[in-house]
Amino acid sequence: MQYFSVADAQACILQHTQRCRHERVALHDSLGRVLAEDVFANRNHPPYDVSAMDGYAVRYADIAHATAEEPVSLGVVDDIRAGAMPKCRVLAGKAARIMTGAATPEGVDTVIRVEDTEADDEHQVWIRAIAPQGANIRPLGENLRKDTMTLAKGTTITPGVLAILAMVKQSTVTVYAQPRVAILATGDELEALDEAMDEEKIPDANSHALYAQCKALGIEATMLGIARDNPIELRAKLAEGMGYDVLLASGGVSVGVHDFVRPTLADLGIGMHFWRVAMRPGHPLAFGSHESGARIFALPGNPVASMVCFEQFVAPALRTMMGHQQIHRRTVAARLTHDIKDRAGRTHFVRVTLRQNEHGYSATSTGAQGSGVLMSMAVAQGLLPIPADATVMHAGDVVNVQLLQEMEYQADAGVEC
Ligand code: AMP
Ligand code: MG
Repeated sequence: MQYFSVADAQACILQHTQRCRHERVALHDSLGRVLAEDVFANRNHPPYDVSAMDGYAVRYADIAHATAEEPVSLGVVDDIRAGAMPKCRVLAGKAARIMTGAATPEGVDTVIRVEDTEADDEHQVWIRAIAPQGANIRPLGENLRKDTMTLAKGTTITPGVLAILAMVKQSTVTVYAQPRVAILATGDELEALDEAMDEEKIPDANSHALYAQCKALGIEATMLGIARDNPIELRAKLAEGMGYDVLLASGGVSVGVHDFVRPTLADLGIGMHFWRVAMRPGHPLAFGSHESGARIFALPGNPVASMVCFEQFVAPALRTMMGHQQIHRRTVAARLTHDIKDRAGRTHFVRVTLRQNEHGYSATSTGAQGSGVLMSMAVAQGLLPIPADATVMHAGDVVNVQLLQEMEYQADAGVEC
């Protein structure tokens, strides 16, 4: 049976993956989602030139030579608060007291901050220092310019983007819908979380790991439970899964006599694009499409393999469906702290911990790398792909590591606090 390379499998999956439809959601629910349309500014912000400081609005020519020793005296003709408009034009030799965010009056070109002034009554101010001409004035439209595109389709909504959406009065926002994802575990030996403990059984970890991996992407997946290793139960659960955009099934994809996933998928008319990927952990991995539009990932049963396959294949597909442009994890260059020997022929995803200091990152294997050793994933901060043709990597080699979590900076000789 043909093995796909990791890259070919990823390309094949993306070829069969479309963006989800658009939907409108409340502004506060849009955080982390992706804009499905360009957003134009419906106003100028600021709506007029405003002061960036509490101080005095002046004509630069009047104060160009002001110093602490020889301050320039100006007559104060107005007192402008944020939200109020100037009452008059400022002529030569005059100034207006002004607050942050207030509209600058006609005639002025500079604001001097209050700390550089002295005023002993309401009608006279002494300017004790100069500022460059134009200083401390925010021009009309500096932030948003009316009728121009302010956020492009495809932008991920961060708190800052959300604030701009609020400024342009988008109480609802058009975003890409979230894919509806279902999760199914398979195996006679599995014990559900809510079942009484039987020490001879294997607790279902995959469903929960996959649920959490979806949740980390912002998707609330539906748990379909455990299908036992018999064709009737499996068929019913897999058919239920075809009612979703994506079904993540784990286990039962190998060629064991009780591995019924393959024949059942065929029976349900699901066209499989590939069955095996040349990788470790995780080679029994299948991907297929159903006429309903559903996509199925048949993931390996081993928990580590299932999680690594989610990272490499499922997550990029889900991010594509959600409209994200950046669909892969950030990678960082890291220096290996030890040699790694490997068999050729498969891409090996080594689970590593990372340290970051002033010299950059260093990567260390999490230890036993068997695909059943879930602790290797639980403590991993990154995945280090060793290419299929490499058989050894040396201590000191610089490698690219996929970051599973953001790192805290740890100085080598840091002060403990
Ligand atoms: P399979 O692919 O069904 O042959 O399973 C491979 C290995 O993964 C077996 O040791 C299973 O017991 C284990 N396994 C399968 N599904 C799960 C699961 N949902 N949670 C934990 N281990 C599992
Ligand atoms: Mg099984």
